[in-house]
Amino acid sequence: MIPYGKQDVSQADIDAVVEVLRSDFLTQGPKVPEFERKVAQHVGAKHGVAVNSATSALHIACKALGLGKGDWLWTTPITFVASANCGLYCGAQVDFVDIDPHTYNLSPKALESKLKKARLENRLPKVLVAVHLCGQPCDMEAIHRLSQQYGFRIIEDASHAIGGKYQGEFIGNGRYSDITVFSFHPVKIVTTAEGGMALTNDDELASRMDLLRSHGVTRDQNLMTHEPDGPWYYQQVELGFNYRMTELQAALGISQMDRLDTFVARRHELARRYDELLAGLPITTPWQHPDSYSGFHLYVIRLQLDVITKTHRQVFESLREQGIAVNVHYIPVHTQPYYQRMGFRQEEFPEAMRYYTEAVSLPLYQALGYGEQDIVVAKLREVLHDGN
Ligand SMILES: *Cc1c(COP(=O)(O)O)cnc(C)c1O
Repeated sequence: MIPYGKQDVSQADIDAVVEVLRSDFLTQGPKVPEFERKVAQHVGAKHGVAVNSATSALHIACKALGLGKGDWLWTTPITFVASANCGLYCGAQVDFVDIDPHTYNLSPKALESKLKKARLENRLPKVLVAVHLCGQPCDMEAIHRLSQQYGFRIIEDASHAIGGKYQGEFIGNGRYSDITVFSFHPVKIVTTAEGGMALTNDDELASRMDLLRSHGVTRDQNLMTHEPDGPWYYQQVELGFNYRMTELQAALGISQMDRLDTFVARRHELARRYDELLAGLPITTPWQHPDSYSGFHLYVIRLQLDVITKTHRQVFESLREQGIAVNVHYIPVHTQPYYQRMGFRQEEFPEAMRYYTEAVSLPLYQALGYGEQDIVVAKLREVLHDGN
């Protein structure tokens, strides 16, 4: 079976983790801050706050921005459920904005018309989660302009996009957002097994997220309500969580970060190769906006179902039967039963629904060989032409 994604773990990665196992700290030691500095420096952000998942990072990002009961969080329906759930964790309500048919990212045009309507109904969002689907950045300049006009805050869910660039600058530098979140799940570009990070240039937001990831407890006298009772003293000043990353995870992340640029370059090489090899087939290959240098977490094709004699499901199943572990990213979040119970109608987001009926993620990961990629292409060609 050729998987759709797979981690790339080197001997240096293994050695780095083993070294931590032999050290004094398995958690709350020097590796986590070192990892935070390394990622923040690489992407050009002032602060990095490492946590145990991107889901946790999204949660504390929303909380740090003050999202709560009576507020709205908006995001795209074409994402993993975590991009929306973080709003519900905070007691806020969630709504969606339809996607752009070319990039499959949240459409700034759809956003603008929804904002105009929301202003009249007095239900403007407090937070927008912009998801860089497949690693291709959203139109952040347009989204940022709308945020100034309508007064909402921006979280970039860059779970797919570490190492990618927007307008020539690394995603995560925060030029057009308040907080950017990365995921280090093994299918993503860089892994810490489980893990995530929230990046920001705002000292206040960084300090709030730092508190929230560790019980809301501080040893910093400046954050306390009175002088410490003694050298043992700490204070809980917020209701936080245990979202800490371990030293083992951070060591793996530090070692992986050394190869980030080569990881992304390799993904681009494979994507370019897919573009060439798939030319002429009844599918749409991923269009790339000239402002973007994708992280290329995913390579998603769309089936031209009016030309193909098979259904989306038949193509998917045939490829799986032939040992190609294709996938679909994503089932529109608003169609999930949990969200359906909130009253979303499927037809509210027609571009997202159309995308869902056509999208297939082909295998893409650093270690994918040309030979394996050729097999994927040959099988796809066979499946698409078979019966035509
Ligand atoms: C993977 C993913 C997440 C969640 O990441 P975890 O680290 O597994 O919590 C959130 N958003 C998107 C878009 C993702 O792909």
